[in-house]
Amino acid sequence: MKRDVSAVDLQVHGIVQGVGFRPFVYRLAQKAEVAGTVSNTSSGVNIHVEGPQGRIDTFRSGLNHSSPPLAHITDIEETPAAPCGLEDFRILPSRGDTRSATFISPDVSVCEACLEEMRNSADRRFRYPFINCTHCGPRYTLIEQIPYDRPNTAMKIFTMCPRCQSEYDDPASRRFHAQPNACPDCGPRVSLLDGQGRPVPGDPVQRTISLLEQGALVAIKGLGGFHLAVDAQNDGAVKTLRQRKQRPHKPLALMSPSLAAVARYARVSAREAALLTGRQRPIVLLEKHTEFPLSDEVAPGNRYIGVMLPYTPLHHLLLESTFTALVMTSGNRTGEPLCIDNEAALSALGGIADYFLMHDRPIYQRNDDSLVQVTDTGPHFIRRARGYVPMPIALTRPLPPTLACGAELKSTVCLARDETAFVSQHIGDLEAAATLDFFESTIAHLKKVTGIDPQLLVHDLHPDYLSSRYALAVPGIQRIGVQHHHAHVVSCMAEQGIDGPVIGLALDGTGLGPDGTLWGGEALIAERARFTRAAHLAPVPMPGGEAAIREPWRMAVSYLHHGFGEALFSLENLPLFREIDRQRCRWVLELISKGINAPLTSSAGRLFDGVAALCGLIYRISFEGQAAMILEAMAGDDAGDTKTPYEWASVRQGDEREIQIAPLIRQVAMDLATGVRPEEVSRRFHGTLIRMWGDLCVDLRRETGLDHVVMSGGVFQNRCLAAGLSAYLTRLGFRVHTHGKVPANDGGLSLGQAVIAGALAA
Ligand code: ZN
Ligand code: ZN
Ligand code: FE
Repeated sequence: MKRDVSAVDLQVHGIVQGVGFRPFVYRLAQKAEVAGTVSNTSSGVNIHVEGPQGRIDTFRSGLNHSSPPLAHITDIEETPAAPCGLEDFRILPSRGDTRSATFISPDVSVCEACLEEMRNSADRRFRYPFINCTHCGPRYTLIEQIPYDRPNTAMKIFTMCPRCQSEYDDPASRRFHAQPNACPDCGPRVSLLDGQGRPVPGDPVQRTISLLEQGALVAIKGLGGFHLAVDAQNDGAVKTLRQRKQRPHKPLALMSPSLAAVARYARVSAREAALLTGRQRPIVLLEKHTEFPLSDEVAPGNRYIGVMLPYTPLHHLLLESTFTALVMTSGNRTGEPLCIDNEAALSALGGIADYFLMHDRPIYQRNDDSLVQVTDTGPHFIRRARGYVPMPIALTRPLPPTLACGAELKSTVCLARDETAFVSQHIGDLEAAATLDFFESTIAHLKKVTGIDPQLLVHDLHPDYLSSRYALAVPGIQRIGVQHHHAHVVSCMAEQGIDGPVIGLALDGTGLGPDGTLWGGEALIAERARFTRAAHLAPVPMPGGEAAIREPWRMAVSYLHHGFGEALFSLENLPLFREIDRQRCRWVLELISKGINAPLTSSAGRLFDGVAALCGLIYRISFEGQAAMILEAMAGDDAGDTKTPYEWASVRQGDEREIQIAPLIRQVAMDLATGVRPEEVSRRFHGTLIRMWGDLCVDLRRETGLDHVVMSGGVFQNRCLAAGLSAYLTRLGFRVHTHGKVPANDGGLSLGQAVIAGALAA
């Protein structure tokens, strides 16, 4: 009955390569009893099917509804075709064509089926640390270019043995076209070296476990880079790690064998458990139990602790022993990016690690662990990297091929084209030369794997950021500079799929405003292509510029001067003055009065710093956000209590409102000088900010009619503030939008930059 046969060509876009998609299509075709072909192309997967229309329909609906776990279909183009008289269904070899638009899967954790094999003494991959299949394992970090075929990956140096090859060639196998497929006979191997690079005899994994048990510090090569590991119960070992890494306070991440082990030292909600056990395996911030059975040195003075579960087979082998938790912190020297090469690790970490657990599978792209916290408004990224990058972010409007270069701290870049944006993994603070190299290699890598050749370059308005300098040095390309806080707000709008206009609250450290001052406590009326500054915190000097960021006591003096003028010295009982004497205050006041390196800032982040120092909680920080974290921890659970806020005033100046914070500072100082405890001050301070920004939005709604509020900027990593303000705004009848796909901090900025520039260029 030839007449009844129809045919159709399907071009499937999205993450459809290296995830078992073609065998899935093959099985689907067999089930639906249609003939045809399937092949990889550089723009996705091409399917031709023919048969009676009803069977084609069955096939078509299966394609949408039962795809493999790692697949992510963004679009299916369907064109009618002529039947070719095919009798069966076949998988054809890959085809190269001109435009590349295939999406690559992120690196994901080892699957249960592979783990079962690894634990089975009869399996040929028993205890093999590199077991993987099409449903699991490395992707983004080992791809050199697309199409995703073995010769284009770090696996090209390993020739598959006949048994691996036959799995690779068999559509019925879980390892059909699994590019990293390997076994103990043909694949990568681990080795253990001492601090001088000499091989250590014995089974590398067993030896590593016993060395860790004895308190040694071991650098362990993973998926996207090295970790530095010690036993988290060994106080002395954790202290040594802190000393050698010169990281005195910043919390260290932990890895535990199971949820049950985590529950011994931290509280885990159902949503947190789902994140911990999901295949992306991020580090999740959990609340410590008051009785904390691990070393206090892991996260000193902190309510929360970052925890992840094992995600590579090697991690599972290491943790199946006796450890409740290992510290697994990034294997880098402070200020430098993660080590990925064996040689580089031996030299960079030589003075830090006692031993090195290495392997010979190269890492092409560095990729840190992702870091997530769960609040009432959902999971929020603090760092987005392994497990999530390069998942595409869908946009509401098409963009020209665009590269956005981000800001300076917690840098990421974004490549976008049409309705899709790819935000890179966390690159780090663009201050060291090595980080700049990483920045440039990330751009090159992302260009290769997305096939996007940018025609438009976007940078922050700050001309001194290394990312801006990079953009300004590229010749012969259209360039657009974007204001920092506009980019924050649009970043959130873009990922949440809204075009605006909105009321955008951008609270962060600092970013350059068009007026030359440093912004950071801003309410903008924002659309994609434009914004107006509707309100901001009153600007105060930052005495010493960057030094005032590292030394919050300088901000405290500046705010006191803002609130009291010369009368600040009458506040004798202020906790700040226990540490900071008159002479140093005078010296800071001189910087302010002479205007020497004392730029004005309306930053909300600096206000947190200043209040923390006024409370006598901290005077100097060793990592970004430390002061605000300590102040937040003081507030405890009921910071949302807005019954007794401090005073402030919102004063119109032309089209802008300035939020007067002098009354707030005066009351905070008077409270502290009269012996009110910092806990109470912190609660009232948080409550005040919630009321301040919430009530401001009511004023702005009255004037503009807008009732959508976007919250962005690093200050919203503060759970008290973010949850409290979001709840207050919701009670006031606003539609509140927060970040869910990229970080609220500067790590999300590149997405907003790309969307703004695209809108301006259109
Ligand atoms: Zn697997
Ligand atoms: Zn093999
Ligand atoms: Fe920022």
